[in-house]
Amino acid sequence: MRQLWIGGRPAASRAGGVRQIQDPASLESIDEVYESTADDVRGAVASAVEGHAHWRRVPAVERARLLHETAIALRADRAMLSELLTREGGKPRIENLDEVEWCAACFDYYAEIARNSHGSSVPPVAEHQVNFTIKEPLGVIGCIAPFNYPLLLMTWKIAPAIAAGNAVVMKPSELTPLATLRMVEQCLQHLPAGVANVVTGGALVGEALVDHPDVACIAFTGSTTVGTRIATRAAARLARVNLELGGIDPCIVFEDADLDVAVPGVAWARFLNAGQVCTSAKRIYLVEAIATAFIDRLVEHVKTITLGHGLNPETDMGPLVSARAIGRVEDQVSRAIAQGARVLAGGARVPSAGPGHFYAPTVLTEVTPQHPVVCEEVFGPIASIQVVKDADEAIALAARSEYGLGANIYTSNLTWAMKAMTEIKAGTFWINDPLTDNDAAPFGGMRKSGMGRELGEEGLDAFRETKHVHLDFVPEKKSYWFPYRNRAAEIPQ
Ligand code: NAD
Repeated sequence: MRQLWIGGRPAASRAGGVRQIQDPASLESIDEVYESTADDVRGAVASAVEGHAHWRRVPAVERARLLHETAIALRADRAMLSELLTREGGKPRIENLDEVEWCAACFDYYAEIARNSHGSSVPPVAEHQVNFTIKEPLGVIGCIAPFNYPLLLMTWKIAPAIAAGNAVVMKPSELTPLATLRMVEQCLQHLPAGVANVVTGGALVGEALVDHPDVACIAFTGSTTVGTRIATRAAARLARVNLELGGIDPCIVFEDADLDVAVPGVAWARFLNAGQVCTSAKRIYLVEAIATAFIDRLVEHVKTITLGHGLNPETDMGPLVSARAIGRVEDQVSRAIAQGARVLAGGARVPSAGPGHFYAPTVLTEVTPQHPVVCEEVFGPIASIQVVKDADEAIALAARSEYGLGANIYTSNLTWAMKAMTEIKAGTFWINDPLTDNDAAPFGGMRKSGMGRELGEEGLDAFRETKHVHLDFVPEKKSYWFPYRNRAAEIPQ
């Protein structure tokens, strides 16, 4: 049974139930966590309020030193963290080793930029005044993460939030809380008590955090449906929100693309983490001239993807995260087939890969813009292909979406690349190299894909307020204070 983490030490839930955490590949129960209560959330927030009162006064250079220590601890614990991530989430271990390293790099990045980053001095409007701005932490940040990159998406919140002087209460996904608990126990335990806290559980625990009056900001990554609910609740008490939500990203292969790059690139961008990536290539547009060759090669490529338990080094693709997740993908594919889509590869569960939620990497053609696999987010390994006559039609269709998370294209033609970049609303636009992040560059969505940015300087500013300081270093009574009769001559007659 894993404990919550409150006030710098493990804590039992006051009255919470118990939730089994299941390995989605083997369906074995791997551990138990608490389903926290509203009382536990109140305890964690109270601890964070205390932690923040101390932490905000700690000099940035000392905060930086402690965050670098977190990065060192994460790298030292990569074997255990990556194994836990694999067992609870299903991703291949190699992807989870990468995830742990990206977390460490993110802590190193924010340790440095929070130390260097500064306010500004502003030209004054009168003599003997000084005007400047300083950046202050917001207070307590509620951090709610999804299941697909449990540590990374939590780190994108807590590294900048803590670096800026805030305290955090984390709520990992109810499906994948174990690596987050391990991270706080092994890699954040050297922080002053109360700076980092963890509660476990599902929607009700998240809601208690969103509604708590001492939580200054909710940093959320997850579905657009839940994000909308959180934004509405937070608005009722004017709490800040940072929302990283769903996406139905377009991917265009133009006719000049090198198929030796584009075919494996699209396959990776769609089937990575069994298609459970917010920025997966979910709507694929192929220009007619290369469509047949591309599809033939993609179908061949898909046959080389090895399914299995993520702890097996041969595995390229693990299971979907839950029975609910695989059921939803099956439903979306069967509705697309009923409306005329053709299955060229996959299209079914793969029992031979293991007892868990394995679904075959699937290629669907004759898909139309109205099909559920195009207008709903498909969080599974389904490559939905639309063939278009030329570059202009590809860009026009790709740009047609209510979402705006990412987009990726394959071309060396500057005109097409820049036209697509201009027309498609997306927080990240990848050309010939999909789904790569950079700690120093902002990440986030437009439209229904969210608001606010993580990473980069914007990711730090999400957790800071700007205070303007106005100083008059020669105190004197001003001519414009009361009484106004002294200014009567200024009024037009
Ligand atoms: P989800 O929205 O179901 O859950 C996300 C988190 O919210 C979980 O911790 C969950 O317990 C919590 N939650 C659920 N209901 C809540 C409520 N009413 N109040 C507060 N918290 C609540 O998402 P998921 O299935 O874990 O993840 C998949 C989704 O996340 C996809 O839509 C994907 O596109 C999106 N996602 C977005 C990004 C991004 O950066 N934009 C990254 C990864 C995943």
